Amino acid sequence: MIQEQTIRSAVECSGVGLHSGAPVAMRILPAAAGSGIVFRRTDLDGFEVEAISRNVARVSYATSLMKKGVLISTTEHLLSAFIGLGIDNAMVEVDNLELPILDGSARPFVEMIRKAGIRKQRRSRKYLKILRELEMREGNKFIAVYPADTYSVSYSINFPHPLIGKETFEVELSNGSYLKHIAAARTFGSRQDEQAMRNMGLIRGASRENCIVLTRDGIENGPLRFPDEFVRHKVLDLVGDLALLGKQILGNVVADRAGHAMHTALVSRILRDKSLWEEVTVSGEETEEVASSNSRAAAGSAL
Ligand SMILES: [Zn+2]
Repeated sequence: MIQEQTIRSAVECSGVGLHSGAPVAMRILPAAAGSGIVFRRTDLDGFEVEAISRNVARVSYATSLMKKGVLISTTEHLLSAFIGLGIDNAMVEVDNLELPILDGSARPFVEMIRKAGIRKQRRSRKYLKILRELEMREGNKFIAVYPADTYSVSYSINFPHPLIGKETFEVELSNGSYLKHIAAARTFGSRQDEQAMRNMGLIRGASRENCIVLTRDGIENGPLRFPDEFVRHKVLDLVGDLALLGKQILGNVVADRAGHAMHTALVSRILRDKSLWEEVTVSGEETEEVASSNSRAAAGSAL
């Protein structure tokens, strides 16, 4: 069976929150099998907020979790990296209300986790396998999930800008392609909307180092990492929001001009209707971890 994974050792970084501009130090620590992803506010007596749908609070330009009034903001890029690397369990300590934006993509988180190392755990991973389709529409926005044996995403956007227009990106996430095609795609914003968003206090931490800045007919801080980096970032966000299912999904997700609100609405609709899915394990190779602990036990008994 494919087993749950955590990281091998603690890793840390610091930065600012994209929306709040708040400085934040973040540390990712290994966690026990079955514990999932849990955030801990070290500035608030270690108050813990689980990365699950029930704790979703505000969803507009980013996805925020809240429990008993304690906020964890902009969780989607880190959660996306965890899914991309197959990390099921981790404790994420932050000393402020928002995760660091770093370069605006999931790549710095992927690099951190790789530096920490990945450890298999002695528990079979439970996947959420979609059994029936679910489609949701809101004006011209659309999101749906269909039965499939693997996790794949097809995302379309239609953004009125000469560099974007209509873009569609389809990707099968389970074979390492997340790391190759999705992780590095950065968030973006336009110069024209900037002042209004700044006035509303929505992008206090935004800079040319952490988002692609669109001008009327081009970009200010090129080059792009992919010609269709924009739609790839939407896939990154979707994967991070769907992580709030608390399990890896087996299904084909199709989205057209959706956003965080529709992503998280899909998650809660899936969880509410248990006839849409079942929990399954997936066969895979026995792990080194089990093998090595068995051999340690054998060595112990021989002594
Ligand atoms: Zn994003």
